[in-house]
Amino acid sequence: MNDLIVLKNLSKVYKMGDEKIHALNDINLKISKEEFVCLLGTSGSGKSTLLNMMAGLEKPTKGKIIIEKHHVEKMNEKQLAQFRQLNIGFVFQSYNLIPTLSALENVSLGLTFRGISRKVRDRMAKEMLEAVGLGTRLHHKPSEMSGGQQQRVSIARAFVGRPKIVFADEPTGNLDTKTTLEVMDLITNMAKENKQTLIIVTHDVEISPYGHRVIYLRDGSIEKIVENQIKGGAE
Ligand code: ADP
Ligand code: MG
Repeated sequence: MNDLIVLKNLSKVYKMGDEKIHALNDINLKISKEEFVCLLGTSGSGKSTLLNMMAGLEKPTKGKIIIEKHHVEKMNEKQLAQFRQLNIGFVFQSYNLIPTLSALENVSLGLTFRGISRKVRDRMAKEMLEAVGLGTRLHHKPSEMSGGQQQRVSIARAFVGRPKIVFADEPTGNLDTKTTLEVMDLITNMAKENKQTLIIVTHDVEISPYGHRVIYLRDGSIEKIVENQIKGGAE
């Protein structure tokens, strides 16, 4: 089977004092290798919670997250950190770059724990920044770049280690329409070139046609799944 990610009876309940918030209810889902999935839904429908759990950033209350036979829900913090380093890239809506570091240092940092020398890391980071069109901004700090440029740095950081899976949580939420399309093309083309699996959260219906499948979330449950004929064709 070509399943890369398998979710079984996944639930997440947040406790707020006496109140219980059911952020996710019994999600069952399989995502294939090299698939591109869009998670769509209104604010509060559970998109970020689902993405964070698949990426090993949050623990489920119940259920299983199996990525290539690895049970992510059973890993301790150390195992999770290592698993994420090797397998997962993440793009945040607000970029999450380190303000005191240059573009090059931000991208290179993601490779620190891999036992790669500084020189090689910096070369890989430079190549990746050139690939996202920032070859002339290597030594700029985040505050010296536009939102679109900062998101490109964060995309370079997510892709530099050639992870199997790239997650993006509303990556274009802070960008204008033109930059949104550029950033979406960049992410999808890189994932396709590198044969990576891509899972993007969005509430922007303009973005959903990019995905092979669009998964609609509502109140923590899967409402429906729509298969797309995307440009270039879904192989
Ligand atoms: P979305 O990303 O679709 O906007 P979220 O996954 O962030 O939705 O949130 C789903 C639900 O879980 C919401 O009702 C939200 O308020 C709640 N929630 C999310 N994170 C927490 C948290 N850390 N503590 C308590 N409630 C949370
Ligand atoms: Mg969210």
